[in-house]
Amino acid sequence: MIVVGAGPVGLALAAELALGGVSVRVLERRDSPDPAMRAQSINVPTAEALDRRGLLPALERIQRETLGVAGFRFTGHFAGMPLDPGLVDWADPELAAHTAVEGARMIPQPRLEELLAGHAERLGVHVRRGVEVTALEDTGSGVVVGTNTGSLRAGWVVGCDGGHSTVRRLAGIPFPGTDPEITGYQAVVDMADPEKLADGWSWSPQGVYRYGPQPGRVATVEFDGGPADRSAPVTLADVQSSLRRVSGTDVTLTGLRAAPTRWSDNTRQAATYRSGRVFLAGDAAHVHPPFGGQGLNLGVGDAVNLGWKLAAVASGRAREALLDTYDAERRPVGAWVLDWTRAQIGVLRGDPKSGALRGVLADLLGTRDGTTYAVKQIAGVTQRVSLPGAHPWTGRYVPDVLLSDGTRLSDHAHEGGFLLLDRTAGAVFGELAAGRARVVRDDGAGVAGALVRPDGVVVWASDTTDPVGLEPALRQWAGSDLLSYR
Ligand SMILES: Cc1cc2nc3c(=O)[nH]c(=O)nc-3n(C[C@H](O)[C@H](O)[C@H](O)COP(=O)(O)OP(=O)(O)OC[C@H]3O[C@@H](n4cnc5c(N)ncnc54)[C@H](O)[C@@H]3O)c2cc1C
Repeated sequence: MIVVGAGPVGLALAAELALGGVSVRVLERRDSPDPAMRAQSINVPTAEALDRRGLLPALERIQRETLGVAGFRFTGHFAGMPLDPGLVDWADPELAAHTAVEGARMIPQPRLEELLAGHAERLGVHVRRGVEVTALEDTGSGVVVGTNTGSLRAGWVVGCDGGHSTVRRLAGIPFPGTDPEITGYQAVVDMADPEKLADGWSWSPQGVYRYGPQPGRVATVEFDGGPADRSAPVTLADVQSSLRRVSGTDVTLTGLRAAPTRWSDNTRQAATYRSGRVFLAGDAAHVHPPFGGQGLNLGVGDAVNLGWKLAAVASGRAREALLDTYDAERRPVGAWVLDWTRAQIGVLRGDPKSGALRGVLADLLGTRDGTTYAVKQIAGVTQRVSLPGAHPWTGRYVPDVLLSDGTRLSDHAHEGGFLLLDRTAGAVFGELAAGRARVVRDDGAGVAGALVRPDGVVVWASDTTDPVGLEPALRQWAGSDLLSYR
């Protein structure tokens, strides 16, 4: 198995593949990890995916070190309109069901990549740096991968090689979407005169800027038709010029504390996430502006969805048709994120009509229902896979389950594989699932049983001791009978 790209998505996917028992090589063209300042907000599904692999304590430590805050209720913003934590209905069932990871929601991307790299390495993943993929040939029974250091063969290849994906281009997968209108910069800088900037988000006819929340962190947005040269290096002078234009000040930046980034609102989704033996995940499959901090989260969601499926098929434990569920389950989530970010570009513009729209939205987001709606979307707690079954857990990421022995259900997921929560007195569900899922017995109250996929999605749940539906779910997802995918 070859994964192209050692960004957060490639690393997360490689770890899941290794956990699923397949040998993985990660090819990365960079000689060293990317120090650029990009993602910071981690949504609930991402934090829970890492929690299931035993990484929650490390995530909490990184958040404490970098933010100085252990647990806090992350809300985020919509198009620069902050979402007031005091207005959120935290008792909302979808929010209240997922609170175990509250101390792990703001992690700088380079630190997350470091954590994922260590995790993947412990699972036996080898990252080969300085290797750039330049050619691909899908032979039908495998893939020949051409690189600057020679050719390699693999059964399957996953392109996790970012928005400009070479794998996507070589596989001939179209990337339709909408063209950029903006250029944005983000940097952490030293400033001679920070008092010239207002804290938070500020609008002007030239664009938008944000100052904070950490000292020196600045971001700008200008509606200039997008960057003229997307590959040109980003300099302190670029960030200063943009900040001066949008803030209308002569603020002076004296140094960079972290590698700056430039982005646009180029918004596209791959026409398919799979072509034969080649898959796409992360930014290679979808790009969009970073508003609301969704891209890395979306990509990690792809990785954990694809990882166990591809491992099961590659090692002969499942039929190939299982792989079709990857595109079917992840494309709708990607399409939603693209629209969530496009909508924010619409209200960020400096023109009077967008300003009026911003006013209407600010009123709506100033209500308890409006804020709660937006916070739930950003947190990812409303995401679901369309699956048969009437139980409210079915198709959702499994909520926090505290067991009577003091452990949590996710503590039992570190080794990957399927989990079966069984709270029946006679271990009715566990007997059925033996050999197909790790059975977690509990005598606590609440849901009587649930079958959870390695990516945290519940495929069957029951409030009673009646096992109806469990055997078909086991056979479809965790057993050898995968004919139902056809
Ligand atoms: C300013 C900014 C803020 C952001 N904030 C957030 C946020 O708060 N939350 C969030 O979820 N997301 C955020 N994002 C988005 C997030 O950074 C990306 O979605 C994420 O990095 C995508 O990860 P990836 O692994 O798919 O791709 P990348 O991180 O781009 O990694 C791709 C890797 O592939 C390698 N590669 C490329 N081509 C080849 C090749 N031919 N051969 C070998 N290797 C190759 C690259 O060197 C790179 O290491 C932000 C982005 C920006 C720009």
